[in-house]
Amino acid sequence: MKDTILIDSYAQIKHNQNGKFRAAVRSSVLDLLSLKHKILGDEEVLKTPRIQFLYFHHIFQDELKNFENLLEYLSKDHVFISHSEAVDRLLTDRVDKPYIAWSSDDGIQNNMLAAKALNKYGASCCFYINPASIGLTDVEKIKHFCREKLEMPPVAFLSWNEVELLQRQGHEIGNHTFKHDMVSQLTQEQFEEDFLKADTILTQKCGPIKHFAYTYGRFENFTKPAFKFVMNNGYQSCISASRGCHINGKGMLNKNKVFLRRDQIIADWNLSHIKHFLIKGVQELDYNTNFLPKSLD
Ligand SMILES: [Zn+2]
Repeated sequence: MKDTILIDSYAQIKHNQNGKFRAAVRSSVLDLLSLKHKILGDEEVLKTPRIQFLYFHHIFQDELKNFENLLEYLSKDHVFISHSEAVDRLLTDRVDKPYIAWSSDDGIQNNMLAAKALNKYGASCCFYINPASIGLTDVEKIKHFCREKLEMPPVAFLSWNEVELLQRQGHEIGNHTFKHDMVSQLTQEQFEEDFLKADTILTQKCGPIKHFAYTYGRFENFTKPAFKFVMNNGYQSCISASRGCHINGKGMLNKNKVFLRRDQIIADWNLSHIKHFLIKGVQELDYNTNFLPKSLD
C-alpha cells in the first residue's frame, strides 16, 4: 500500500520519538559495556550451546542493511532453526549447539522485507500476528490500531495473501491475540474469547497454530490462568518478550511448565549493542529460566 500518511522508514520513527537525551545516555552506557566485553573477550560465550529466541517488529528499508549484517554476523557461530524446532529441542533436551530461532510480532507489512533477508540465510521465522490488523486498508483504522495498540506511528500491515506467501516460504504463523489487548487488563473470560477468536481465524487461514506470544511481553502483562488456557488448548509454546535464552541438560521438559523468553532486536541498533544483550543473556544462562517466573506463579 502506498500512502504518504503511513510511515515507511525507521528514520521517521526515530524522528518522532521523545526522550532523545535518554536515548543518547543509553547509547553511551551500551558503548562502555561493549568496550568492556571487547577487552575481556566476552564474545566467545556466544559459542555456548543454547536456544536463543530473537524477535523484531519491523525491518524498514533503511534498516535492511543492518539486519543483513546482523544475520551475517550471527550465522558464523549460530545455527538458525525454526520456532517449532527450537521448542522441540528444548523440550526433548537436544540443545547441543548455539541455536537461534527468529520471530516477529504485530504483522507489519515490511515483515516481507525481513523474510527476504532471512530466506537468504535459510532462517525460518515465526510471525506472530493479530487477525484484527491483517489486511487493514482503511487509513483511519490503521492509525487507530497503531496508536492504541502498538504505540507507534501508522504503518501498513500484512495482507492475508502475504501471510500465505510467508508460509509458502517456510515461515510459521503464531497467535498474538485477536486485537492486541493487554492480557493482564482483561478478565479471564474476555481473554479466552479473544484468544479463541484469533485461533479460529488463524487456523482457518493458515492451518493449525502451535505457538502463542502474548502482547507487550513483560511478565506483568500476562497471567497464569491465561498461560494455562493457552497450553490446555493444545499449543506447544507460550513466549514472552523478557530477555534471556534457554538451556536444558536435565532431560525431558513438560511443555505446560515451560515459559519462553526472547530478546528484542531493532536492526537500527549498533551491532555491538545487540552483542551486549546476547552476551549478557549467555552469562546469565540458568536452567530455571525455562519456567514460569515466580511473579506469575
Ligand atoms: Zn505486539
